[in-house]
Amino acid sequence: MNNLENLLNEAISLFDSIDNTTELEQAKAHYLGKRGVLTEMLRGLGKLSPEERPAMGGHINKLKKALEKTIDFRRETILSKKMEAQLTREALDVSLSGRGLGMGGLHPVTRTLERIESLFRSIGFTVVSGPEIETDFYNFTALNIPKNHPARAVHDTFYIDDGKNEHLLRTHTSPVQIRYMQSKRPPIKIIAPGRVYRCDSDVTHTPMFHQVEGLWVDENVNFSALKGVLVDFIKQFSEHEELSTRFRPSFFPFTEPSAEMDISCVMCNNKGCRICSYTGWLEILGCGMVHPKVLKYVNIDSEKYIGFAFGLGVERLAMLRYGVNDIRMFFENDLRFLKQFN
Ligand SMILES: [Zn+2]
Repeated sequence: MNNLENLLNEAISLFDSIDNTTELEQAKAHYLGKRGVLTEMLRGLGKLSPEERPAMGGHINKLKKALEKTIDFRRETILSKKMEAQLTREALDVSLSGRGLGMGGLHPVTRTLERIESLFRSIGFTVVSGPEIETDFYNFTALNIPKNHPARAVHDTFYIDDGKNEHLLRTHTSPVQIRYMQSKRPPIKIIAPGRVYRCDSDVTHTPMFHQVEGLWVDENVNFSALKGVLVDFIKQFSEHEELSTRFRPSFFPFTEPSAEMDISCVMCNNKGCRICSYTGWLEILGCGMVHPKVLKYVNIDSEKYIGFAFGLGVERLAMLRYGVNDIRMFFENDLRFLKQFN
C-alpha cells in the first residue's frame, strides 16, 4: 500500500512540473501506456494468491483513475494558460488614437474644368463629349484639313496600327463639333471638354492635355457675339474685371476669319516679364467663325446659318489661375503639389 501511495505522489508531482502537452502525454504513457508502470502491475496480479488479488486489483484501479483525473486536470490547465498567453500577446489596445483618414480632393485640372463648365452653362451652353479615339475623317477631313494639308504637321499625333492609319488619338476636341452637328440642327450652343493628345513634351506641353471646344451655330451669330462671350468668360474666370484683351488675326482651317485671343499678362500687368516673353500679353485661346466648308460636311445650310467656334487649353488656364510655371507638374502626382489646391 505504501508503495502505491508513493507512486501516486511521485506521479502527481511529476505532472505538476510539466507545462506542455507533449511532455504530459509522454508522462501519461510512462504510467498508463501499454508498457506503463501500472499496466505492468496489473499484469503482475497473476503472481498473487487468489485471496490477495481482488483487493490489490481494486487499489491499482483506484490509482489508475486518480492518475487519469490528475492528467486531465493538468492538460486543461496547460491549455488555458496557453490561450491566456496568446490573448495577451495579440491584445488590441483600443485606447490608441486612430491614424486618421486622409481627405481626398479634386485635381486642379478638374477644378478648372468644372469652373469653365459652370461659367458656360450659366450663359446657355450645353456640355457634350465625344470619343478620344477618333477617325481621320472627324479629326481632320471634316474640319477642312484634307490629307497633305500643312496643318496636319502641327497636329502630329498617335496613330493606331489598324493597317490603314484610319484611327488616331484625337489632337483636339473639335471632332465633337462635327459629331454633334451631324445629329442635331441649329440652334446649337455647346462646349465639349476632354482629353487630347499630341507628340509634345516640354515646360508648356505634355503628350496629353485638356481642351474645351466651344460652338455656337444659329441664324444671327456674328463676330461681336464671339468677342462678347469670350471676353466676358475670361473676366469671370479670372475674377478680374479690368483685364485687357485683344484679338489677333490667325489661321485655322476650320474657321474663317480666325483669331487668337490674348489677355494682359497677369504676372506683370502688361509691363512685360519672362512669363509673357516681355510682350505684356498672354495667348489664351484660338477662335473664329465656322468655315462654310465645315457646315457643308454636316449638311447645314451655310447660307442660312453661321456660327463661331473656339478652343482653349485647360492646363493653360489652370497655370494662370494658380500661378503654376511648369505644366508637367499637373501630371507628376506629387502630393505636396496637389495638396495645395484643396
Ligand atoms: Zn508678363
